[in-house]
Amino acid sequence: MIVAIYARFSSVADLEKTSSIEAQIQMCKQKAVEDGWVVDENHIYIDRAVSGSTINRPAFQQMLNAIESNYFPNILITKDTSRLFRNEREAGHYESWIWSQGVEIHYVIGQSGNPNLDDNVWFSGRIGHLVAEFYRRKTAKVTFAHQEMNAKAGYSNGGSAPFGYLRREVFVTDESGMEKRKVIYRLDPDTAPAIKMAFELYLAGRGGKHIADVLTSHGFRSRNDKPISKSSILNWFRVPFVYAGCRVWNVSHWQKNDAGKKVNRIFHPREEWVIIPDSHPAIIKMEDAEQAYQNMQKNNPNNHQRRMGQRAKYLLAGLANCEHCGHNLQMKYNRRNGEAYYCCGYRRLSQANCDNRRHYNQDLIEDTVMEMIDEYLLQEGYIENQLHQQLELVEKQKQESKAEIEPLTAEKQEIEARIDTSLELLVDGRVPKERVIIKMQQDEQRLRDLQDKIIKVEEIKAPTAEDLEVFRNQLRMQVEGELDMDTKKSVLNSIVKKMGVNQDGLVEIDFCVALGNTPYGS
Ligand SMILES: [Zn+2]
Repeated sequence: MIVAIYARFSSVADLEKTSSIEAQIQMCKQKAVEDGWVVDENHIYIDRAVSGSTINRPAFQQMLNAIESNYFPNILITKDTSRLFRNEREAGHYESWIWSQGVEIHYVIGQSGNPNLDDNVWFSGRIGHLVAEFYRRKTAKVTFAHQEMNAKAGYSNGGSAPFGYLRREVFVTDESGMEKRKVIYRLDPDTAPAIKMAFELYLAGRGGKHIADVLTSHGFRSRNDKPISKSSILNWFRVPFVYAGCRVWNVSHWQKNDAGKKVNRIFHPREEWVIIPDSHPAIIKMEDAEQAYQNMQKNNPNNHQRRMGQRAKYLLAGLANCEHCGHNLQMKYNRRNGEAYYCCGYRRLSQANCDNRRHYNQDLIEDTVMEMIDEYLLQEGYIENQLHQQLELVEKQKQESKAEIEPLTAEKQEIEARIDTSLELLVDGRVPKERVIIKMQQDEQRLRDLQDKIIKVEEIKAPTAEDLEVFRNQLRMQVEGELDMDTKKSVLNSIVKKMGVNQDGLVEIDFCVALGNTPYGS
């Protein structure tokens, strides 16, 4: 018997931190040997250091695909159920599905069985997952309470020290006589003066950009030896109590995207912050910290939204590139004449980056782009040509799909015949009923999958001249008339593949038009 292995390492610091990937694989291989099975090296699936439930497990997904396409051994070994399923819901969903595909799940630790066949197996399995989930939730709460206690005692819960401070490890003895390692902060004589200076300037009414310039001119650098940015300085003022000697905890958390990357810092309301005074040496006075906090609140009542609103005012931001260096064009606003310009964002960082010193007037260049859209997409010619090319492509795809459908249809007929035979066997009664039923269920599932596939392949449709008319009319409605900026922007994003502006202000646009599949059909 050939078998597959799935292993997962979670970096979550909890009870799951049990065994390394290598140890898991080793355990699974040993079980295979004991049961007289052979591991297929092509079917070892590993999700490494993927923590928590926020991220999709790529290897797990890949494995599901392999199972679905019937290219998979009959047996899957994994260390225990919590390797395979991260929570109760996943277990409930995937476990019976995997079994229904004819793949047996075997655990190195713990009983396994087909939950679709035996209600007792199903019940004990689901209860097991539920208990594990309950335990996970409880542990998370305990961890939170523990960190809160730690913070209230004035200790750090990990992470690097705030700018202006350094970490210091101390050993304390708790009430039960155990010695524990704790982290507190001490002043960093090199960077603490930068914090002091920044708060003084901010309370004197200066802005982030100015403060950044002053700090740089005094020779202060960030931890990775770069000029200290305006945004990190503003973050100091956002949680200023740290610099007045307070341990501040539970201030914010990060929102992550599907790839696990931090994308958005969510601040908790101040009432939820845990602020413990006199935890480490203060750089500023408490009343100055409070003042800075109040100023930040006043100046940025809705920091995030305001910024979003501003961005939407510029049609081409994020779309147009400097032809000279390929970087994004950015907006620059001239307060004196009240006009806005696009300019090379790379040159803005440093003049040495790019030679393109041109400032493109916002109205001028946005009008040019809209005119080009009118000329290329709304007038006859350009899309007709696109349509022609798409037709040729679809014709080619159709030929290919014909070749694809034939074996699918053959397989479909074969399975239908097999289901008929199974039915006869059932009526006959000489073969154990359970076995026939499993086989039949598998066949029926496969049949449904095949039918779905065939329908999909047959669905490839050529765009027609009518689609073109629809597209053009939709586009016309979207770009003409008084539309809000967001709608206009999303239309541009969906039809512009690339847009470059050169030093002479010439605009070049690469359109992507998908007829019959317009992304903004009402
Ligand atoms: Zn440039």
